[in-house]
Amino acid sequence: IINVSSLDRPKVLLMGLRRSGKSSICKVVFHNMQPLDTLYIESTSKPVEEEFNSLIDFSVQELPGQLNFFEPDQYIDSDRLFQNVGALVYVIDSQDEYLNALSNLHNIIEYAFKINPDINVEVLIHKVDGLSEDFRLDTQRDIMQRVSDELVDARLDDGDVKLNFHLTSIFDHSIYEAFSRIIQKLIPELPVFENLLNVLCSHSLFEKVFLFDVNSKIYVATDSSPVDNQTYEVCTDFIDVAVDLDNLYENGSDSKSSENTLKCVSKLQNGVTLHLHQMVKGLALVGLIRKENGQKMALVDYNVQVFREGLERIWGINKK
Ligand code: GDP
Repeated sequence: IINVSSLDRPKVLLMGLRRSGKSSICKVVFHNMQPLDTLYIESTSKPVEEEFNSLIDFSVQELPGQLNFFEPDQYIDSDRLFQNVGALVYVIDSQDEYLNALSNLHNIIEYAFKINPDINVEVLIHKVDGLSEDFRLDTQRDIMQRVSDELVDARLDDGDVKLNFHLTSIFDHSIYEAFSRIIQKLIPELPVFENLLNVLCSHSLFEKVFLFDVNSKIYVATDSSPVDNQTYEVCTDFIDVAVDLDNLYENGSDSKSSENTLKCVSKLQNGVTLHLHQMVKGLALVGLIRKENGQKMALVDYNVQVFREGLERIWGINKK
């Protein structure tokens, strides 16, 4: 029986047919594996559960595609499985014939919805790197239409089932973007964070700020200005550089000290300055400043510190 000890953690369940890309997604997003290296990983053949402790303590449970949920099974208690799930992520290989996947998805939605009507169903139309721009949109339209027709037939119209579609690939940032949106829905404090980040932007020089989970590079919150892909990519690359630099000098310093919070600032050729400040719970604040003003930099640091203290208070973390 799958361990459901972590009842209060929002759980993300990753499902899909064999070879749809579930293990690869887990490895790339949560274990920093290079996308090309996923060519050689073994397909999932038994249920795996992994936990991640960051802003929310969420766990990702990956299930092998060939399992049949609708027959009594010695390994899986399907009812309990769906009860505690915040998001059901279903991966469809868009480069392959997907009709089988759609009927499997439909069965799962019907089953899961009966047990947990609040479940968020997130469909990843995956491996879109192999499709042309036009074909991606056609595929998305076709899949959305078919899923919605089936739901209407089953009298589960889209309005009842919370259903979202994402075009993804592990070879670009789309998979992180999709997971960011999926995870954000599971964070009860999200409006508070967004508000705090808006206040931070308006009182500092930041043009855009993200609160990132450093390990997965999923952003768990951002201010309310629109997210543009390039900015997001620059910020994630900056996290990599900052973490690498930090690791380089880690041995020499007392890295376990709680006072030791990483801060990294870098000025790009186009005049934009990137700021990274380590927060609590494996998070980092990454912000972008276009017009630097030397005098105001102390203010930025001060405001970031106030923001960090705000986070600590929200979680009742006592620094001492
Ligand atoms: P699983 O059985 O669902 O766990 O599938 P795997 O993770 O083993 O993936 C099956 C194959 O799909 C592997 O060879 C991966 O390299 C490949 N794959 C996964 N994601 C992508 C993607 O975004 N694009 C492409 N082109 N291939 C992918």
